[in-house]
Amino acid sequence: MVKIIPTVEKMQEHAESLRGDGWRIACVPTMGFLHDGHLSLMRIAKRRADVLVVSVFVNPAQFGPEEDFETYPRNLERDLELCAKEDVDIVFTPKTGALYSDDYQSYVKLEHLPHHLCGLSRPVFFTGVATVVCKLFNIVRPHIAVFGEKDYQQLLVIRRMVQDLNFNTEIIGAPIVREKDGLAMSSRNAYLTPDQRPAALTLYRSLVQARKRVETGERDAARILKEVRDLITAQPETDIDYLSICDPETLIDVERIDRPALMALAVKVGKTRLIDNTILPVSSPGSRSV
Ligand code: AMP
Repeated sequence: MVKIIPTVEKMQEHAESLRGDGWRIACVPTMGFLHDGHLSLMRIAKRRADVLVVSVFVNPAQFGPEEDFETYPRNLERDLELCAKEDVDIVFTPKTGALYSDDYQSYVKLEHLPHHLCGLSRPVFFTGVATVVCKLFNIVRPHIAVFGEKDYQQLLVIRRMVQDLNFNTEIIGAPIVREKDGLAMSSRNAYLTPDQRPAALTLYRSLVQARKRVETGERDAARILKEVRDLITAQPETDIDYLSICDPETLIDVERIDRPALMALAVKVGKTRLIDNTILPVSSPGSRSV
């Protein structure tokens, strides 16, 4: 039976008692409106711990003033059913005011990683994410936590925060889960109209094309980016936020792809902002595929 814990005090108390009894706690933070991407994280977490805590919280601190906090898709009832099916032990569902009081003042801000990719057009995003994850870790006290590679930069930010602030939590990255046609699963896909779907798919197509170009010997990042830009702009209703081929650790752009590089992109399709990424492998057998 899945246990729903809506308050910080109860969650903290429960986590302390689980730890006291020697149980290993896993945490999967989410903003709800769950899909198979989220469920894959839960399955990975479940295999590596005794007790799985999934948090469902739409975090206002990571949305800019013009962004979709109010309209972000929510369906707690359905989320709880999916969590029950996945054998989740605890769903932590705090109210906004429980995590952010009216005179809230403390934020976790990273120095370098947020100055690339999504951080450029979403200036408060990574401070919001790092802050809420820091708070969740203090409340849930997980031994491990699982995050998706779909949000690659977010995963790097969390890893860095955990290292810098000495959290005793192991961070596990989980592969991107895609729809049958290749579109990376996202709660925001619910915003897309059927007409916008082909345009949304060009994110995935771009990654596939870039990988092919690297596989067949292209090493010039600018040339690949130009081709991908043409592919995307040929689709109606697309507005490119960024296209980048960069170092997978620092996120600094690379000119030549002599080592495995990260290709990451963010594109608005109509009003919906979509992101995707892949590693462009340079003849290294262990690299992940799109
Ligand atoms: P969100 O609810 O969008 O904040 O996502 C919660 C977690 O699910 C984050 O760690 C995301 O990276 C992860 N996630 C979201 N979509 C996917 C996906 N398609 N594949 C794998 N993980 C995902």
